[in-house]
Formats: sequence, C-alpha cells, structure tokens
Amino acid sequence: MPVTLPLPFRKLTVPSIGRRRVTTQVVATTTALCAGFGLFAAGADSDNEKINPVAATSSAQPAAQVPGEQQAPAPAPAAAAPNAPTAEPVAFPFPEPPRPTTVRPVDAVVSSGFGARWGTAHNGIDFAGQMGAPIKSVTDGVVIEAGPATGFGLWVRVQQDDGTVGVYGHMQDILAQVGQPVRAGDVIATVGARGQSTGPHLHYEVHDPGLGKIDPAPWFAARGMDVNNFPG
Ligand SMILES: [Zn+2]
Repeated sequence: MPVTLPLPFRKLTVPSIGRRRVTTQVVATTTALCAGFGLFAAGADSDNEKINPVAATSSAQPAAQVPGEQQAPAPAPAAAAPNAPTAEPVAFPFPEPPRPTTVRPVDAVVSSGFGARWGTAHNGIDFAGQMGAPIKSVTDGVVIEAGPATGFGLWVRVQQDDGTVGVYGHMQDILAQVGQPVRAGDVIATVGARGQSTGPHLHYEVHDPGLGKIDPAPWFAARGMDVNNFPG
C-alpha cells in the first residue's frame, strides 16, 4: 500500500530532474563546442532556464543588436501607415469646396458702360486693366471661339453656364483653346489693346440667345455681383 503512493511521486520527480540534467549537459557541451555559433546557443534558451545566463552572455551582442534594429524601424512604418490611409479617404470623398459661379473677369474698375457712346453703340462694358493682366472666365462654360476678330483684335467667346455667350475682346494673348471647358475664374487670356482700342482694357459682352447683346451690368447683378462696385 505505501509503495503505490511514492511511485507516482517518484515518476514525476525523477524524470523531470533527469531531463534537466540531460539537457543541461547536452546544451553545455554544445555551447562549449560551438561557442562561436550564436544560433545554437540562442536555440537552447527555450529548453532550460539554467542555460539562459550562459546563452545570454554568448548571444548578448547579437541579441542587443536585434531589438535595437527592430525598435528603430517599427515606429516609423507604424506612424506612417495610419497617416497615409487616413489622408486618402478624407481627400477623395470630401465634397468640393464651394466656389463662385460668377467671377470678375479683370481685377479692375469698369471704365466704360454699356450703351450709346461717341455716337455709336457700345455693346459691352470695359474693364480697365494693365497690359498683360490675367483675364478670367466669368462663368463656367466652354470656349467656342478663340482668335482674330474684326474690331476686337483678338477675341474669345465662351458658351456660358446660363445659355448666354460671353465675348472677351482686345486681349494681348489668348490662353484658351476652342472646345476647352473652363470654370469661373480660369485664366483664358491677358489684357491687351488690340483692335479698335485706345489703350489696354478688356471689352466684355453678353449675348443672350433671345435678346441679343444685353447690358452686362444687370446681368452681373442678377448673378449677385455689382460689377460697378470694385472691389466688391
Ligand atoms: Zn468696350
């Protein structure tokens, strides 16, 4: 009866001690023989805790370098990865910021209005502007004509967003092409004095398909811009 009790106790304790001794001896010999090979010593670390001090000392230098290398690159991609995916989803689905539907074509005062002038009809309004100043498309639209024109020197005609046609005249250089879609504010030409012009300015007309050449000032006003108030 008393023999049965110590048997399982012995079976549990004796083999465990024997394994530790065997492993320590084997690992000790392998580490001694292969002291220069860090791989064998590092692989023996998980087998027995007693070997850890020996293995740690033999593999102290490579073990210290590995964590040093892992820590340096690890934060960099970890920090860059969240920034890249967060920036892209925000940029693409984000709605387009609001932009004006009507833009003053030249940053200058109106020097001459629509109507009778000098015994003839002035079919547009003139914006005073320095030679070479940018001329911007008043509305969204499509360029339907760009080139020489009698009296205008050079002109650009834009099919505007409300069905009217905007006519730009006397420009020095044309920076748009026929068929090109333009948005309000896009630079399409520069101020010049070509054609029948006494000096650099932009002549701008609005052609209504039903009414013909209309006064641009009330047309601007209907779009929310007091064209005679500059800056405004
Ligand atoms: Zn004019």
